[in-house]
Amino acid sequence: MSVYHALVMRDDIAQPLEAIDGIEYTHLDHGGSDSAEFEYSTDFQLLLLNFSDASLAEQDQILWDLRSGKLDLPREIPVFCRQDSPLLEHLGDGLFEKRSQFHTFLDSFYERLEQLQKHTGSSPLDKFLAHAWPRADSSFGPRWQLQSHSSYQYPLLSCLGIEDQQKTLALWRQSDVIVERELVDRVRQCPRCDSEHLNYVDICPRCKSIDINSSVSLHCFTCGHVGEQGEFQLDTALRCPTCLTQLRHIGVDYDRPLERFHCASCDHRFIEGQVVASCHNGHRHKPDELKERRLYRYGLGPAADQIASVGRIFDNRALQWGESTSIENFSWLLRWTNTSAQRHKHQHLLLFLNWEGVAEAITQLGEARALAQIAELQERLHSVIRQTDVFAEIDADKAVILLCHTSVKWLDQIAAKLASIEAANDSSVLKLQVRNFPLPSKDLPENTQQWLLAQSNKLDIDDVI
Ligand SMILES: [Zn+2]
Ligand SMILES: [Zn+2]
Ligand SMILES: [Zn+2]
Repeated sequence: MSVYHALVMRDDIAQPLEAIDGIEYTHLDHGGSDSAEFEYSTDFQLLLLNFSDASLAEQDQILWDLRSGKLDLPREIPVFCRQDSPLLEHLGDGLFEKRSQFHTFLDSFYERLEQLQKHTGSSPLDKFLAHAWPRADSSFGPRWQLQSHSSYQYPLLSCLGIEDQQKTLALWRQSDVIVERELVDRVRQCPRCDSEHLNYVDICPRCKSIDINSSVSLHCFTCGHVGEQGEFQLDTALRCPTCLTQLRHIGVDYDRPLERFHCASCDHRFIEGQVVASCHNGHRHKPDELKERRLYRYGLGPAADQIASVGRIFDNRALQWGESTSIENFSWLLRWTNTSAQRHKHQHLLLFLNWEGVAEAITQLGEARALAQIAELQERLHSVIRQTDVFAEIDADKAVILLCHTSVKWLDQIAAKLASIEAANDSSVLKLQVRNFPLPSKDLPENTQQWLLAQSNKLDIDDVI
């Protein structure tokens, strides 16, 4: 049986940790002199948080920092806690008390991590799989959060730095990386700004004022006057303020109109107010005009296994950008090509591609139609790329192509080809942005991968061919 080394943070709970076969504890003494002796990233295989009830917020902070990569420990390390805290179910691996499965879990975790590590890069998907895939049968769900624009966020994705979670989840689901496990909630969104913080209020159906009250009113049969019950009150009896008739019997002298509401702005009386939902940006919509967002707990899909076991390099399914090489391979090839091109005076062309407006397309067309369009455009793009060109996906909506033995003089022709992809695109929101970088170049730094990522991010603001 293998021995796992556990780092224990905090000793808030006096009751000592029970000894478990195959687990060795090291207590991290805060400010202790020997804490510097450890190489945290390699010496420990699991983390135990021994926080008391009183410091659960601190426990959550540790979980958050760990998964965000801010601690000197591997981001994906298994974590168990002795007390439950709000983020434990999202970012941790459970309560220490449920330790009967400890060894089985750790064996399986490290076996799977081993398989995965050969392939992982630094894209959001890679980071996600590095966390989720080693945990066989893992799943992740949303958490209600007050401070964010959307009411729900997926804490795991937030920790991995994924901002546009709705778009990312839609793309991953489309490519079978994740599957829906369970519907957690349905929330309404403002169709203009996607805000999920909505106030539902009933307003006057005539002048739309919010200044309405429910009131008991009376209707005099003699003169037809309608007014607040108070106007009719005369000591204990009722008398019409207009025609002064004594109102004795309901149904004979008077009745109560169905219009229970009164508008203080326009004096209108009505049976039921009109309900509107307003967001904090001041947009007002009828409830049936609001968009619906469905929040699921997700598990890993078949494509996750495929990426983990064979890597994306051999993946011949259309995964987001289609068949492509990994960014690591691409970086290496780029460096090599650049050096060799300088020596042999060859000319190559590097193209950075970016789909603009994916989020807008999802908003305007709905998820299914937008994704179908992206898939179709990507297929056309592939028909333009030659066998000898090398293609790497940087993000769900960014990629880079190396056009071998192609000089800048062909740029017009390439631009025309790429423009034909766009022309066939009937959606006005989706745009393919292209930027070129001729090779060989002396500006290519040693860390090509970092340079590629930085360059691809410039797309949003820079020039377009
Ligand atoms: Zn709004
Ligand atoms: Zn009257
Ligand atoms: Zn009114």
